[in-house]
Amino acid sequence: MVKLSSLQSVREEVSSDGTRKFLFQAADGNLMESVLIFNQNRVTACVSSQVGCALGCKFCLTGRGGIVRNLETGEIVDQFLGMEEILGSSITNVVFMGMGEPLNNYDNLVSSIRILTNDKGIGFPLRRITVSTAGIIPAIKRLGTEDFKVNLAVSLNAADDKTRSSLMPINKKYSMKKLIKAALDYISAHRKWVIFEYILIKDVNDRDEDAINLVKLIGKGQAKINLIQYNPHPECSLEKPEPERVKAFQEILLSHHMTALLRKSKGCDINAACGQLRAAQKDIR
Ligand code: SF4
Repeated sequence: MVKLSSLQSVREEVSSDGTRKFLFQAADGNLMESVLIFNQNRVTACVSSQVGCALGCKFCLTGRGGIVRNLETGEIVDQFLGMEEILGSSITNVVFMGMGEPLNNYDNLVSSIRILTNDKGIGFPLRRITVSTAGIIPAIKRLGTEDFKVNLAVSLNAADDKTRSSLMPINKKYSMKKLIKAALDYISAHRKWVIFEYILIKDVNDRDEDAINLVKLIGKGQAKINLIQYNPHPECSLEKPEPERVKAFQEILLSHHMTALLRKSKGCDINAACGQLRAAQKDIR
């Protein structure tokens, strides 16, 4: 058990691929997940921004329990500091991709980025920070007005509004076309590429026609598509596609000159999907 300034590490799981997943407890007893992912020379810290999440994405365990509260700025920064302390060496990348929708905790997200990157403090490089969103368009636009520029990832996961709305209810409020435009606008003003995350789910969004629709939607924008095979969990009926289907989907994107990378779902043998470790901990309490 490791005691941090405001968080306590109450559980850790280590995957066979080296991914380390931590469950931190806040002073009020609430639990949050943070993950360290190792890739060649990179050590990426995936941090949470909220306890729970209001957005209720179908494939995500965190969203099932609803939102409990926003994390404080200190609790976000402490996840980073706590993992560096446990690791005993430097983290090279930070992604706001853990529990919660970071843009729904906008002020604390921005303060934590300012603290992480302040030259007089941690001095973490801005270019190595990525904020991942399910698509809160006004907040993407607001982020574009800040005096710092972080990388942006958008969790897309479908190639048409009907399918995306069935997986991610936030899509009923902000349609895909508008979302993709907002992301590309942010990027064209500030960064070279926007990352679209696409979790491939068997017979839901993994057909050839979905890949072709994706090409049409994104067009020749400055975009990279990260394809991730869905990581199943017992509480959800969604299934992961066969590796051949994933490959075929990628091939279609590549044949249309899109940048499409296959990302391995790290930590599959532990409670790696967002919210699983917190749920498991609740079961044993
Ligand atoms: S995937 Fe992200 S935005 Fe969607 S419910 Fe889970 S934590 Fe919230």
